[in-house]
Amino acid sequence: MSENEARGRRRVISGLIRPMSEKYESYLCDESRVIGNAESISFPRTEVELRYALSVEYARGDRVTVQGGRTGISAGAVPNGGHIINLSRMDRITGMRKDADGEFCVRVQAGVVLTRFNDAVAEKKFDASGWGYASLSALEDFHGAGPYMFMPDPTEDTATIGGMAACNASGALTYRYGSTRRHISALRVMLCDGRSVSLRRGECFAKGRRLQLRTDDGDVLCLDLPTYTMPDVKNAAGYFVCDGMDAIDLFIGSDGALGVIFEVEVRLMKRPAHIWSAMCFFGGENDALRFVAECRDMVENLAAIEYFDGASLDILRGEKAFGASLTRIPDISARYGAAVCVELHGALESEAMEQLFYVGECIDRAGGDIYDTWLARTSSANIGLREMRRAIPERVNRLIARRKLTEPTISKLGSDMAVPDGFLRATLGMYRLGMTEAGLESAVWGHIGNNHLHVNILPRSKEEFERGKALIAEWAKRVSESGGTISAEHGVGKLKRDALRIMYGDKHILEMSALKRALDPKWLLGCGNILPAATFGARGV
Ligand SMILES: Cc1cc2nc3c(=O)[nH]c(=O)nc-3n(C[C@H](O)[C@H](O)[C@H](O)COP(=O)(O)OP(=O)(O)OC[C@H]3O[C@@H](n4cnc5c(N)ncnc54)[C@H](O)[C@@H]3O)c2cc1C
Repeated sequence: MSENEARGRRRVISGLIRPMSEKYESYLCDESRVIGNAESISFPRTEVELRYALSVEYARGDRVTVQGGRTGISAGAVPNGGHIINLSRMDRITGMRKDADGEFCVRVQAGVVLTRFNDAVAEKKFDASGWGYASLSALEDFHGAGPYMFMPDPTEDTATIGGMAACNASGALTYRYGSTRRHISALRVMLCDGRSVSLRRGECFAKGRRLQLRTDDGDVLCLDLPTYTMPDVKNAAGYFVCDGMDAIDLFIGSDGALGVIFEVEVRLMKRPAHIWSAMCFFGGENDALRFVAECRDMVENLAAIEYFDGASLDILRGEKAFGASLTRIPDISARYGAAVCVELHGALESEAMEQLFYVGECIDRAGGDIYDTWLARTSSANIGLREMRRAIPERVNRLIARRKLTEPTISKLGSDMAVPDGFLRATLGMYRLGMTEAGLESAVWGHIGNNHLHVNILPRSKEEFERGKALIAEWAKRVSESGGTISAEHGVGKLKRDALRIMYGDKHILEMSALKRALDPKWLLGCGNILPAATFGARGV
């Protein structure tokens, strides 16, 4: 490239970093509704532009917050000063291959939005301009193969694939298919200074707790991994580390604090021919818990088990009565104080029918009524149930936003803890007792199949907010003691750092800090996510 061309290119790229202005105000927050601050923002479209933005900010020593779809609820994408790199314009699906097992893997830029990706996979329609021969040939095979799907399903489908990788997102289907981690076959990550690392699953492993990473330029980074043992439950708290781990897993779930994930390769799975859901109603929580236990024992092919307590059902009743939405679902009888939605995946109709029969038996045994169960066997009926699941958190967020108008110091307090098998009933009992004693309003729902419930405390005043916070800190301690996690899927972000410290203790927090410093010596990326920004910050504050 001539000096003139290089200068021209620098000029084009330099327009990339824009000063913050009112126009970009919405980028100061995410779904946590926490509002941050930043001096500048960029929307890179390519690897080159991303490298440029990172290198400039690295040279300046400015903090960088990475954003995908800003649907996160732990404030991870909320900027903490400095610069925002928003990846929503890196939104191309860039290729496809068949792996050694004959399964299809699709390569995407990090900003591809989940709903668009799912549509492309379902319809098998990709903009393949710029794809190489190998990708086009895999696409041809893909067209001739049966239906496929991408299993991770974090409820909010405007999330980006990069954001899902950064949070190791999970959701209802995690019960059967695991979290996003399990579906990622390769990643490309850019470090704080613009160097990139390309990782394919199965190619680079730690020796015990020492990991050597080779950058694309050939530099070798030697990393000492923290020594904690992660809980044996669904978990998104802190960095993923274990003996002999695959290097790719370090960046999955690292909450934008170790590197910028700019390319993700995901592995698709064959779409089950029969996807049926049953929404089962019960008089109260005890019956619902019995049903869950029976189902886990008796029913194979369960893909999801989702819980809704009485307050969540009231929210839905209110939404149906006063909103235009949720027209696809019937009214919920006033008799019911709890519900469980199960999803069955089967290759054959007879198989799904048999499992459904067992679900019916579990309903009977738990004191429910099979004639009051909603069955969804078509995709439109399944969409109705999905809209319903999504409506509850959205409605709760709106309620808190309204309360904030008169009491700006409050916000929603949501727990995201999971416990080992055998601790579910006692843990739910602990939540209920604590909230009754503290006189707090709440709604509880979530992924009960994984012993993972979201307790949403809905404070009406500053005092209630403080009481709720103290209660959640107490739960974090007791859940950690039982071998559980303080965050099963939303990640630590900026809101659960104190809870992470309760879970792992200071020694391991310092080990995590050392790992971060080895990859991000100026402490610039995702400042305040997982670890405090100030205590360990580059500016020494
Ligand atoms: C109604 C509702 C329901 C939800 N339900 C679930 C659920 O069931 N399960 C679940 O797991 N989550 C759930 N979420 C949370 C959220 O949707 C997920 O965490 C999602 O994965 C975030 O993706 P995003 O693109 O919006 O990321 P963002 O919110 O933009 O970012 C999230 C974090 O990842 C980092 N990040 C984003 N992109 C990158 C990147 N390319 N490289 C490095 N770091 C990056 C950010 O810095 C931040 O720390 C829900 C959210 C809402 C609003």
